Amino acid sequence: MNTTKSSLLFDEAKKYIPGGVNSPVRAFKSVGGNPLFIQKGIGSKIYDVDGNEFVEYIGSWGPHLFGHNPSFIKQALLSAIENGTSFGAPTELEVEMAKLIIEMVPSVEMVRMVNSGTEATMSAVRAARGFTKKDKFIKFEGCYHGHADHFLIKAGSGALTLGIPTSPGVTKGNAADTLVADYNDIESVKKLVLANKGEIAAVIIEPIAGNMGVVSATTKFLSELRTICNEEGIVLIFDEVMTGFRVAKGGAQEVLNIKPDLSTFGKIIGGGLPVGAFGGKKEIMEMIAPAGPVYQAGTLSGNPLAMAAGYAGLKYINDNPSVYTILEEKAAYLADGFKANLKMLNKNYAMNRVGSMMCMFFTEQPVNDFKSTILSDTKLYGRFFNEMLRRGVYLAPAQFEAVFVSTAHSREDLDKTINAHFESLDTILI
Ligand SMILES: *Cc1c(COP(=O)(O)O)cnc(C)c1O
Repeated sequence: MNTTKSSLLFDEAKKYIPGGVNSPVRAFKSVGGNPLFIQKGIGSKIYDVDGNEFVEYIGSWGPHLFGHNPSFIKQALLSAIENGTSFGAPTELEVEMAKLIIEMVPSVEMVRMVNSGTEATMSAVRAARGFTKKDKFIKFEGCYHGHADHFLIKAGSGALTLGIPTSPGVTKGNAADTLVADYNDIESVKKLVLANKGEIAAVIIEPIAGNMGVVSATTKFLSELRTICNEEGIVLIFDEVMTGFRVAKGGAQEVLNIKPDLSTFGKIIGGGLPVGAFGGKKEIMEMIAPAGPVYQAGTLSGNPLAMAAGYAGLKYINDNPSVYTILEEKAAYLADGFKANLKMLNKNYAMNRVGSMMCMFFTEQPVNDFKSTILSDTKLYGRFFNEMLRRGVYLAPAQFEAVFVSTAHSREDLDKTINAHFESLDTILI
């Protein structure tokens, strides 16, 4: 595979952009090698600047449910741009967008558009704090909620100690209000709630985690979490930035049948443009300025291009529920192919899948929480990734990310991927 142009661009990029990329995981650091610079994407495929073609399963890290540059989203963007790119004043489409989200996700009664998933989660926690007049919140180890300071915290030693910042630049003050519990472990939540009685504003969770590989919360765990939040007056926030509109029209909350108080969205909701949203119960959302005192704002929030792309995508899903049957069929076909390969190779690697999100771990232990996820041999994943890439299949350059199947993946793409999977594993597992 010739990657001369990408290599040269990466050397150049490193001079002007920290690490040569505008978001860390793009740099291939955890898999080895240099990132490829992408020229274009069409359907299930992307093409790099050296002319290599790949069947790819990142979909811009989740947004591209219909593959790259689907014509109906492109058309929506082209007609929106005729009227200008941004006004900083309300537009009709924002009302339509809000109504559509509320129709599709029944727990959402009011919604505010923002520009990224990070903004959505940050604002949802602020709304919960403003509403409850409490400061602390609980998150779960292994869940990712974007890069706002108070999310970059891991558990201290012992469940009851203060959180520890995971990044320089995050203050101890920020860490002090973030409590970290164990995913799918209700006892860890109960302990924190007891030790911080009356001080907790919110619990935020990925109901189906997609940032420690794919790990679903159990319905039992989430329903116990719901009960605790009800009893203690804690706002339950589902971070559906990845799962929203991907695992079902109504997101993970529809699949698992648990209603949060607030939900956060991103990725698919922007149709490939920078968008996020948070919404939920009216009494909480009406705390947000200018309806209420909790400040939240954005120069480009709800801008016409982002709304046009996002609305086109959501409308398509809402009008064509078969999208999820198609995704399920394709993803199941791929997962079955992977499983058959593993069997032939005498490996019992854990594979988790929820609809069109899946992850193969390099461990034979079942993976259902953060502790089991990190048993995966990430070095082996790195070698697997590079073997797949060489065979024209572009996976996430990091073990703990999902494989995203889109409606654009053809049977031919999936077969090519299954063959590459076998050959790649066969090569590295000698
Ligand atoms: C991607 C992601 C975020 C952050 O969204 P950005 O748009 O990258 O800021 C937050 N939460 C979850 C669950 C995500 O997958």
